[in-house]
Amino acid sequence: MMVSSTEMETVSYDVLIVGAGIAGSSLAHALSSLKRSKPLRVCVLERSLAEPDRIVGELLQPGGIAALQKLGLESCLEDIDAASSHGYCCILQDERVHIPYPDALVGKGFHYGRFIQALRAKAKQAQSVDVVEATVTELIECPLSGRVLGVRATRKDGENADGEKEAFFADLTIVADGCFSNFRSTVLGGAGVKPEASSHFVGVVLKDAKLPMMNHGNVALIHKHGPVLFYRIGEHDTRMLINLKNPLPSDIKQTLLAEVIPQLPSSLGVTVQEALENDRIRRMPNSILPAAEQGSRHTKEGVFLLGDSWNMRHPLTGGGMTVAFYDVVLLRELFSEVKDFADWREISHLLHRWHWSRKRYSSTINVLSVALYALFGAEDELLNVLRTGCFKYFELGGNCIYEPVLILAGIKQSPALLFYHFFAVALYAIWVMFTHPRVVATGDEKPRLEAPRIDEYPALFMKCIQVLWKACIVFLPLIWAEIRWW
Ligand SMILES: Cc1cc2nc3c(=O)[nH]c(=O)nc-3n(C[C@H](O)[C@H](O)[C@H](O)COP(=O)(O)OP(=O)(O)OC[C@H]3O[C@@H](n4cnc5c(N)ncnc54)[C@H](O)[C@@H]3O)c2cc1C
Repeated sequence: MMVSSTEMETVSYDVLIVGAGIAGSSLAHALSSLKRSKPLRVCVLERSLAEPDRIVGELLQPGGIAALQKLGLESCLEDIDAASSHGYCCILQDERVHIPYPDALVGKGFHYGRFIQALRAKAKQAQSVDVVEATVTELIECPLSGRVLGVRATRKDGENADGEKEAFFADLTIVADGCFSNFRSTVLGGAGVKPEASSHFVGVVLKDAKLPMMNHGNVALIHKHGPVLFYRIGEHDTRMLINLKNPLPSDIKQTLLAEVIPQLPSSLGVTVQEALENDRIRRMPNSILPAAEQGSRHTKEGVFLLGDSWNMRHPLTGGGMTVAFYDVVLLRELFSEVKDFADWREISHLLHRWHWSRKRYSSTINVLSVALYALFGAEDELLNVLRTGCFKYFELGGNCIYEPVLILAGIKQSPALLFYHFFAVALYAIWVMFTHPRVVATGDEKPRLEAPRIDEYPALFMKCIQVLWKACIVFLPLIWAEIRWW
């Protein structure tokens, strides 16, 4: 949409932010804290400032808490009935493995709505930040250069709410409008790819649930569907998220009752059934979107994407908010060097540095989430071998848990370390295949546990190669998606 001359006279800002979610609210606060001769004038446009009720963003990893502290926003976790989480408990049939956060680290579970309202309150209080309740409908582009000069938005209510579109101008526009972004393809142009979702999370809140391991994230690995997550989000509330592969069944509730609940720990059955009766079953696509480099000749000038509008990973590992907060920490550092926010060359250079500097944490968290989902949602025999290997690897304890859980927590940021542990799991899965007893059904007798016999080794050697190949097929394309530079 092009700009008219009368609109150019309306109020103009240094930075416009579209969306007061996790990324937008924290960025607004961070920009206001930049030390400059004159404070930056920032405007955040949010379509609804009412407390949202969503099934996303409810567990913040210890790494995310560390980033929040760096942003001076840790108080947002207070007075929202947040529950502490001390690690994970992984459940596979009758087996359980405890994966505690080491070094006294804690994560926090909460209702997304309460946390977001606390972040928005911080943005509203910040110096020279305006938070406006309005839905952004268009980007305003310069008729000559195509550069984005601002946005058009419709106010929700208040004195200016006449349904008319209002223009907001800025030197720089940052779009943080979440996973269903309306502006992704316009901003990324030829550099963009479409998000992919092969499954959904469906969620309900359980009341006073007795989890197999209290104050931990509990992950039940079940057949046919993906993992089921349980984590406390309040004193009495526990979020249950069930991964359902696409296409979604026509009757979700019936599928949960018939196929999922029977596979859950029996102590949860009644509580889950009650929740399915009383709570609205909500769903969200589990979208995956690698980050495309911005600020290049393929993308729009004067604007860039932040948060889920730009980069998404599987929510299994609860890493989205951690990535968003680390992104804001890094952007604040880079923005502190910017002299002129209207100078696109300066900004595009910054975007290039940001894109590559963020890889250490974003790639680690992104790749882990998708790789772990492939194993935990195992769809074939080879993935099943890897899943069993992963479970047994955690059972070894020591460094087989310590480093992986630090990666999961967003504390250790190293794709190379992730690579090491992923392939250590694959090799251990092969060792388990040869050495550990497995269930053998023999004629009329009862199935019994037996280690593989020597005459089975040739077939197992063939299977080893297939398992290793499978591990490569899962992991290497993910790394490639992260490091490709065009
Ligand atoms: C099922 C599921 C569970 C998840 N669980 C976790 C978890 O436990 N831990 C974790 O760290 N991450 C989790 N995530 C990911 C996490 O929710 C996101 O990474 C995070 O919310 C991204 O923040 P954001 O600011 O980009 O988007 P959001 O937080 O979604 O904010 C976007 C904002 O933009 C506003 N907006 C949208 N369009 C417009 C418009 N046109 N005009 C004005 N405003 C607009 C919206 O109202 C919203 O306030 C989960 C994701 C899913 C799908």
